[in-house]
Amino acid sequence: MSEYVPAELRRLIRDRAGHRCEYCLIHQDDAFLPHEPDHIIAVKHRGETIEGNLAWTCYVCNRAKGSDLASIDQTTGEIVRLFNPRTDSWGDHLELIKDGSIEAKTAIGRVTVALLSLNRPELLAIRELLAKSSRKPR
Ligand SMILES: [Zn+2]
Repeated sequence: MSEYVPAELRRLIRDRAGHRCEYCLIHQDDAFLPHEPDHIIAVKHRGETIEGNLAWTCYVCNRAKGSDLASIDQTTGEIVRLFNPRTDSWGDHLELIKDGSIEAKTAIGRVTVALLSLNRPELLAIRELLAKSSRKPR
């Protein structure tokens, strides 16, 4: 969820992420709306506005995540926490497939792909276009 983040901290997390959404990997230059900081643990859950609790996200991923911390894994029915860009490695939980889709490798990956709709049609279209050009999604 987007809360006020000072400009200097905003620049730091943007640069740290290479200007890419830390969930869906879309580069800021390839998105229609500007990327923004996400409180991984939302302010309403007492998450702080500090470097270690912020991720750089596209507008759509940030809105889809909202203040959620977890979701229900459709495979097991269990409550599973979401992917945390500060403590998890993207490649440990998610995989970018040649067709532009993102596949989950773990339960954390599954709930994150589902809740944030990481394979939404517009993302698949953008990733397909990028794969055909010299600009790879990652
Ligand atoms: Zn995104």
